[in-house]
Amino acid sequence: MSNMPAGSGARGSALIIGAGPSGLYLAFQLGLLDIPCSIVDSLPAIGGQCYELYADKPIFDIPGFESIKAIDLAERLWIQAQIAKPSLQLNRTIIQIKADTSGGFLVTSRSTQALSADADDAETQYFQAVFIAAGVGAFATKRLRLEGTQSLEGRYLFYSVLPTIPTFKAKQVLISGGGKRALSIAVQLLQCPQALAPDRIDLLARNGLRPALDQQHEALLDSVQQAAKAGRIRIHKGVITGFELPDQAIKLDAVRISLRDEPRNAERSLQSNLVIVCHGLSPRLEPMLHWDLGMTRGQIPVDTARFESRVPGVFVIGDMASYPGKKKLITCGFHEATLAAYAACDYFFPGKKILLQYTTSSPRLLEKLSRGARPTE
Ligand SMILES: Cc1cc2nc3c(=O)[nH]c(=O)nc-3n(C[C@H](O)[C@H](O)[C@H](O)COP(=O)(O)OP(=O)(O)OC[C@H]3O[C@@H](n4cnc5c(N)ncnc54)[C@H](O)[C@@H]3O)c2cc1C
Repeated sequence: MSNMPAGSGARGSALIIGAGPSGLYLAFQLGLLDIPCSIVDSLPAIGGQCYELYADKPIFDIPGFESIKAIDLAERLWIQAQIAKPSLQLNRTIIQIKADTSGGFLVTSRSTQALSADADDAETQYFQAVFIAAGVGAFATKRLRLEGTQSLEGRYLFYSVLPTIPTFKAKQVLISGGGKRALSIAVQLLQCPQALAPDRIDLLARNGLRPALDQQHEALLDSVQQAAKAGRIRIHKGVITGFELPDQAIKLDAVRISLRDEPRNAERSLQSNLVIVCHGLSPRLEPMLHWDLGMTRGQIPVDTARFESRVPGVFVIGDMASYPGKKKLITCGFHEATLAAYAACDYFFPGKKILLQYTTSSPRLLEKLSRGARPTE
């Protein structure tokens, strides 16, 4: 799948915020209507909740499929969306939408990673209309909320990635987390050549290592457990409770931890000068709360004929849309996407009567569909 570089949004094109099932199906519908579109998602892959929360689970209520694995549904929707040739920007989070005097919108995004590190790589693009298909919010790395955290981030404290540094020698690395990502980072460190390897690796997980979910996970678990037996990594059940910051927070020497099997409130010091936190992702609504769209309890009110918000030209579909009788189901998102795409024609083809055309019999659509290419891997 291609991950298109961020470019300037073309005049006359639409932005879809969210590459979940609703956003992907919307791209297909926009393609049928000849409306060019870009899709932006804060996650590193398409699929929204289907990718992030239950990728390997079968779904039984998608019309036409007795059952389909969530991740396969996302992949099929992406293939179907190719009729629109959408540009796709992953790992980017939309942080602001502003109405432009020319009738469209100036939309600002930042890379999801920069958002976690408080770095600034904001980019603003123009779009004629905006479709919010943002589900339960922008998935972002769960960060530690402890005193001193901010001054350590990007230098001694990292989230879900192994920092690119020339050597781990003289480093005492603490990995916090018991899931697949934490294991994968542990294995990368264990595989460092002797000359570059950290002096010590600790892995701290509240409830210990989680059971494997797939074969790859199983292999990682096995490697880490073998390394633990050989004394190359120490595994603890517990949580980080603070940082020891001598030298006015310029340098990290040790981390305060609380171990599960020790009395409550008993803390101990663990020598660490590099901490990698892998606590997974959680959805964040913050950016959208400030877009003046009347969001309440994580949803934005829309009308059920057009799925347009109270701001003309901003449409909301999928789990984030709210209207009487709304059900947070994938099929409902498909219906909402279809009607929103038709409604948006008012902005792309003002004054033009848009006729309903069937994909089975419209020569224009059949020609278009026959050209719909598989996405590049
Ligand atoms: C465990 C579980 C099982 C489920 N099973 C079923 C089922 O069997 N059948 C069914 O119909 N439904 C099921 N659902 C519900 C279904 O997954 C949701 O209804 C569906 O995913 C909603 O799709 P969406 O496209 O609206 O949003 P999402 O799938 O949530 O996708 C939204 C995307 O928008 C991105 N995003 C949000 N904000 C921003 C931003 N500011 N910038 C960039 N990107 C952003 C997010 O990262 C996300 O990827 C299940 C849900 C869960 C949690």
